Amino acid sequence: MEKDVVIIGAGASGLMCAIEAGKRNRSVIVIDHASRPGEKIRVSGGGHCNFTNINLTSENYHSSNPHFSKSALARFTPYNFIELLNKHGIKYYEKGSGQMFCRNNSAEVIKMLVEECEKTGVQILLNHSIEEIKRNGVHLFIIKTNHAEIETESLVIATGSLSYPVLGATDIGHKIAKQFGLNVMPSKPALVPLIFHAEEFKRFKELSGISIDSIVSCNNRQFRGNILFTHRGLSGPAILHISLYWNTGDNLTINLLPEMDIYKIFMLKRQSKMKVNNLLSQYLPDRFSNTFCETYTESKMLNQYSDKELRNIAHQIHNWTITPSGTEGFKKAEVTLGGVDTKELSSRTMEANKVPGLYFIGEVVDVTGQLGGYNLHWAWASGYTAGQYV
Ligand SMILES: Cc1cc2nc3c(=O)[nH]c(=O)nc-3n(C[C@H](O)[C@H](O)[C@H](O)COP(=O)(O)OP(=O)(O)OC[C@H]3O[C@@H](n4cnc5c(N)ncnc54)[C@H](O)[C@@H]3O)c2cc1C
Repeated sequence: MEKDVVIIGAGASGLMCAIEAGKRNRSVIVIDHASRPGEKIRVSGGGHCNFTNINLTSENYHSSNPHFSKSALARFTPYNFIELLNKHGIKYYEKGSGQMFCRNNSAEVIKMLVEECEKTGVQILLNHSIEEIKRNGVHLFIIKTNHAEIETESLVIATGSLSYPVLGATDIGHKIAKQFGLNVMPSKPALVPLIFHAEEFKRFKELSGISIDSIVSCNNRQFRGNILFTHRGLSGPAILHISLYWNTGDNLTINLLPEMDIYKIFMLKRQSKMKVNNLLSQYLPDRFSNTFCETYTESKMLNQYSDKELRNIAHQIHNWTITPSGTEGFKKAEVTLGGVDTKELSSRTMEANKVPGLYFIGEVVDVTGQLGGYNLHWAWASGYTAGQYV
């Protein structure tokens, strides 16, 4: 079989690239080993697909080259995606700071992408495993799957990254990059729950299910949102967010009462016979206040503490410091940090500088967004960009 464009990966970036290339009357085939397209889109945003963020800038992305994403993000903006949703009558809403979600469910977005592919004559081959990719002369690639052999001038790698293998993630994109002599930046799970050290685990394991609005800081970054105690450590939006910037051995500092100065409250109740854990329970969940006081102080009445002791307790509440032992790994990471080195690619076309005709888009590239719709938007924008050139 011969095609103008072969795209490996029927996920967010691959389908968007296919639509754009199809609109240019290129003959396009998308190959995926999964039995359904867009499996990550399906589960994204808790089933409601946080498809973009209307406030996004390149600063919401982590990459060894912070400028790389600018070109694609400028070409395909959140409003371009919203326009596509409008065309298909898909309802959406904004949550938090610019996060856009589908009102019904993510399946609508997949249906929309597949319909757009059909309209432009794109063929999607599912249940196809890639067996071999070879270069045939300077201008052609041969892709061998378990069912077909396809020749093409433009090969697009849209295979995502290592996160959530249960949804079809593999390292094939990195392997293909290396096969063609491209550098791949080391990979690491990100937007991922963190695990307590043995000591902290012993103290806090009973708190599983509790969630607290906090500010979490690490390596000069801070995020506001809920932290959620799990059976093994901490999760919740603020923790997932900070995990992008956390490295093994780093401390996390957590302000558990960002809206107030608890020391001022202690001072107002300085003569009270109320126990400190009972006072804290007015602002924090009971179970947490009790465990926190058992861990960091004796449970005395407020009037029995010295000012210094109260200042220390307040400090702990506003600067609770923990040192996670690790992350829950790729199995539970929403995304993967690292990937194909951006130095190897043109930011204007997503083509490999030293391998004409070979393109990398989406999460396989060393561009990782923060939590809040940025990763899907990178997939759409990089797919759109490559789709104009393949
Ligand atoms: C649980 C979860 C929730 C998420 N929620 C959000 C969210 O709400 N908002 C957001 O912005 N981001 C979210 N993300 C991240 C987002 O889904 C990804 O960043 C995005 O899907 C990446 O798009 P992609 O096209 O690069 O890769 P993918 O969408 O992962 O597509 C890659 C495709 O390649 C195929 N493939 C892989 N290996 C092979 C192989 N060997 N042979 C053939 N095919 C292969 C896969 O089957 C898959 O279909 C979430 C991720 C997860 C795991």
